[in-house]
Amino acid sequence: MSQVRRQSAVLPRPNWGWQDAAACREEDLILFFGPDGERQPEREIRERKAKAVCADCPVRVECLNYALSRPEKYGVWGGLNEEERAAERRRRMRRANAA
Ligand code: SF4
Repeated sequence: MSQVRRQSAVLPRPNWGWQDAAACREEDLILFFGPDGERQPEREIRERKAKAVCADCPVRVECLNYALSRPEKYGVWGGLNEEERAAERRRRMRRANAA
């Protein structure tokens, strides 16, 4: 009689410890993600304020690396908005391919 073993896929759990030191812990999430239907001028002002919080954040690098490693499509993470993170992903990909 054969024995069939089931192996469950074990995905690595993200390390969320860095969030304990996040400068945005007490901030309103809307500052980082914006409201529905936000217009470009308001978005630019909001993102500038969010990025100012990120600039003083002690876990900015960890936050950005986390956001770049996951499909985080929205919001300001690690001081970068969506378009800036997409550009950073491409830049890192090019750098890795060149190595
Ligand atoms: S870098 Fe910005 S979004 Fe990330 S934890 Fe710090 S304050 Fe929050």
